[in-house]
Amino acid sequence: MLDVKVLTIFPELFPGFLGASLTGKALEEKKWQLTAINIRDYALDKHKSVDDTPCGGGAGMIMRPDVLSRAIEANHHSGKIIYMSPKGLPLTQKKVRELSLEEELTIICGRFEGIDERVIEAYDIEEISIGDYILTGGEQAAQIMLDAVVRLLPGVLGNEESLADESFENYLLEYPQYTRPIEWQGREVPEVLLSGHHQKIAEWRRDKAEAVTRAKRPDLFKIYLDSKNS
Ligand code: SAH
Repeated sequence: MLDVKVLTIFPELFPGFLGASLTGKALEEKKWQLTAINIRDYALDKHKSVDDTPCGGGAGMIMRPDVLSRAIEANHHSGKIIYMSPKGLPLTQKKVRELSLEEELTIICGRFEGIDERVIEAYDIEEISIGDYILTGGEQAAQIMLDAVVRLLPGVLGNEESLADESFENYLLEYPQYTRPIEWQGREVPEVLLSGHHQKIAEWRRDKAEAVTRAKRPDLFKIYLDSKNS
């Protein structure tokens, strides 16, 4: 069972939306486990301070290495330590799949201007970004990453087959999807999808997935072409 420990100064933000829907049900059914640890509990001074001003000057505050390391030492046993960070490698479905195979994950959520670099070095921490924009805190990023990871855990989605065709599996975006009614506001569902001809449907979907990827994500399409030719 995947055992996740989150180090945060806002433990009340957990499980957050992870407590709802499929991820929440999986949590109840003990398909994974989540513990939010309050970093402030590891501050030694009477104000419970976890941050200090940046060396060299500049705006904002930095999370202190001594407090963070006490929180890590007291809670991390084995497995990866991840810091949610805009300067990390961008999260991809490939990375999500890799993380879904882990037994234990310890995730550090930054606040303010982030954490002291020496902690990242000392504990060989992996930095992961959820995109090229800045959030107020790592909690939101951690929840997004965990949402993507937990839905891949065995038995969480129910219909495992639905995973194989999704966007980013095989480096393609998903083909367009339709449901009933067959005609809506004068727009019809593409005829091939009603034909019952499985091979034609598969070909149509592949063509559409390629076209939409080429148009919207040329960067991804290039990786797809390279992967097909290798
Ligand atoms: N000064 C930092 C940004 C700090 S934002 C910089 O310029 O890189 C505060 C915290 O929010 C970070 O420590 C990180 O944990 C989290 N965060 C913000 N944006 C993020 C993103 N795109 N991906 C992952 N975590 C992010």
